[in-house]
This record gives sequence, C-alpha cells and structure tokens, in this order.
Amino acid sequence: MAKIQMKTPLVEMDGDEMTRILWKMIKDELLLPYIDLKTEYYDLGLKHRNETDDQVTVDSAEATKKYGVAVKCATITPNMARMTEYDLKEMWKSPNGTIRAALDGTVFRAPIQVKGIDPCVKNWEKPITLARHAYGDVYKNVEIKTPGKGRAELVFTAEDGTEIREVIHEFDGPGIIQGIHNTDKSITSFARACFSYALDTKQDLWFATKDTISKKYDHNFKDIFQEVYDNEYREKFEASGLEYFYTLIDDAVARVMKTKGGFIWACKNYDGDVMSDMVSSACGSLAMMTSVLVSPDGVYEYEAAHGTVQRHYYKHLKGEETSTNSVATIFAWTGALRKRGELDGIAELVAFADKLERATLKTIEDGKMTKDLALITELENVTVLNSQNFIKAIRETLETL
Ligand code: NAP
Ligand code: MG
Repeated sequence: MAKIQMKTPLVEMDGDEMTRILWKMIKDELLLPYIDLKTEYYDLGLKHRNETDDQVTVDSAEATKKYGVAVKCATITPNMARMTEYDLKEMWKSPNGTIRAALDGTVFRAPIQVKGIDPCVKNWEKPITLARHAYGDVYKNVEIKTPGKGRAELVFTAEDGTEIREVIHEFDGPGIIQGIHNTDKSITSFARACFSYALDTKQDLWFATKDTISKKYDHNFKDIFQEVYDNEYREKFEASGLEYFYTLIDDAVARVMKTKGGFIWACKNYDGDVMSDMVSSACGSLAMMTSVLVSPDGVYEYEAAHGTVQRHYYKHLKGEETSTNSVATIFAWTGALRKRGELDGIAELVAFADKLERATLKTIEDGKMTKDLALITELENVTVLNSQNFIKAIRETLETL
C-alpha cells in the first residue's frame, strides 16, 4: 500500500523520560509504516532545552504559529531536583507555560471513553470537554495575613493619578485579605477560543460563573462572553443548530450530573482546575484524556494531559518491564494529523487518524491493555501488556480494520 502523503509539516515537539520512549515507539509502529510523515522536529527534551538556553521552546511555539498545528510530547518542568539531575544552567520555565503564553490559548480536555471502563456517572454517555481559562484570578493573587485591628481597602490608581477606592473590611482582630485580577483582553480571547472550538467540534457550549454574588468581577466574564457571542458567533451557532448556554456555577454543577455529556463546559481558571480533575477521575485515568491548546486565531497544539511518567522511566532505565499507557500520546498524534488533514484537504489522513483511534479503543475493548486500565476495568480475563506490546497489539488491530 502506498503511504499517505502530507502537504504541510506538523510541528513535532519531542519530550522527556517515559513519554519520549513511547513517542518513538508510536512513530515507528503506528505512523511511519502508513504515512509519509512530514514534520518540523523540535527537541524539547530537557537536555536540548538546556543546551539552547530554552530557545528551542520559543522556536517551536513560533513554528506552531507559522504552520498552525503542533503535536507535543510531555516534558519535564524543572525543579531543584532536576537542576542537579540534568546539570542545568538555569531553572528553565515550564515549556507548556511558554507555549501557552505565545499562543494566548485555552486548554480543552476531554476523557477518552471506552467500553469496559465506564464513567462513575452512569448517564455520561458522551465525553464532557472542559475548557479552562488559563490566566489570572486566584492563580495570580496577592494575599495579606492581617495582624490585627485596621482597615483593608481596594485601591486602583489610574495613569493620570486618579483613584478608585473601596473599603473591603474594618477589622477588629486578625484576619486575611486577597487581591485578584483578570483582563478584558484575556477573557475575550478565552471566549473566542471557546466559541470557535464549539463550532469546530459541533458541540453546545456551557459557561457558568457566580455573577449573582460577584456582581462586577464574575459579571464581567458573563458580559464579555455574551458580547462576543452576539457580535461574532450567534449566527454561526444558529446556522449549525448549536446552543450557547449561560448559567450559575452551582446550577451548572447540578445539571452536569444529570446530562448525557457531549458538550463543552467553559470554566473560569479555578473552576476549570477543580472540575477537570473531577470529570477525568470519574472517567478512570489521566492517560485516557485528550488535551489540546487552541489559540483565538485557530492554532492548535495537541498533547497528552499527563506528565513524563518519571517512575516508569526509572524502571525502564534499570531494564525492568514497564506497562505505560500510550493512549493519550497516540490521541495527541491522531488529533494533530486529523486537523492537518482537514486544513490541507487530505481525506486519507483524516480517515487514518479516525482508524488509528478506533484500533486503539478496540484493542482495549478486546481485553488487551496496560496495567493502569486493567486495575479499573469491568472486563474479565484481560491481558496486561507491557508498553511495547500494547502498541504492537494496536498495530495488529489496525491491520484488521
Ligand atoms: P505523571 O507523569 O503524570 O505521572 C504520575 C503518575 O500517574 C505515574 O507515576 C503513574 O502512576 C500515573 N501515570 C501517569 N501517566 C500514565 C500513563 N501514561 N500510563 C500509566 N500510568 C500513568 O506525573 P509526575 O510523575 O508527577 O511528573 C513527571 C514529570 O512530568 C515532571 O517532571 C513534571 O514536570 C512533568 N509534567 C509534564 C506535563 C506536560 O508536559 N504536559 C504535565 C504534568 C507533569 P504509577 O506510578 O502509580 O503507575
Ligand atoms: Mg489541578
């Protein structure tokens, strides 16, 4: 069979540890035999980031803006232990942070559902996609533990020196205060990314805040979403038969439990942090989760939601067998290949991405899986495979489809 041809290269961001090992296995077994793979390769492995003073991360983000679609392997975010382990010149920033800042994006995450590993919430027939705003609020807060009696005030000083001042509280004893912020620019980008992604994936969009209590802060989120919807997206939503639905966050949480799933749930930063962990743990495993960063002007970066699986890598280095789940990394590749196929009008590439996903899920449904899934599945008589053999089993299934 002739290999599938590509037009535009994918931006390929290689990574670290166990996921770097899986990355090569996936390419060798599942991609290169079928596709004349065109990529522009960036090695974001920590060793090479250190050698290039992290320039390679910046370059890979710029290339993503240029070509439009990237696929990223999990990477180490350096901490003190990594400084010594890799003899680093500096404690380089998180590559995901660098790339997110360059693309000004929103992260969308959805569980990969498969028969035999059912969500705890029985009526969730389709995945719920979380869209998390990744800027500001409590993640950029300023806090004071106040020692005793006194007045706390909120003050804004404009460029011309004029002040807006509000009393927060007159303390008669020790307490705490917190200052948080967001910007209209960031909220607008977030709204656009959510509406575009909903149209792109043909799903309804939900958004919720606590605007009844937070009449200026949360209300601003609600107003900006409504304005962006009315001015830029309402017609397209109506033409596609899709709905934009705003409600209170507590109402959203109650309703989500009763739905069948199959929609996008846009969340403020903290809500998104908490709710994505709730949805993913209800669906089994971090390795069964897709993750894509989407910029407001339609640039896509696909990755796995989990890290580099360090503990498995150290076992691998000692020559011990590992059973690391490659599903999220495979789906990062299929997501990127499908998007590239759609943008370049290559139907075979889109069809191949669909087929590889079906083969991956069928392999698990046939009872062949890695250890993490074997521990939680309702299927009986499952075969636990090592990292390499799971990927080989997917190839065997792929050949039969
Ligand atoms: P991790 O790689 O997500 O792994 C934590 C644990 O979760 C593993 O030890 C393993 O549990 C389980 N696990 C995660 N992915 C799995 C998979 N594919 N298959 C089977 N089990 C899986 O988190 P970490 O070990 O705390 O972090 C390692 C490195 O990843 C850190 O340097 C961190 O900076 C980086 N990180 C990168 C990203 C990213 O690039 N997107 C995200 C998060 C973390 P058991 O050990 O119990 O089997
Ligand atoms: Mg969290």
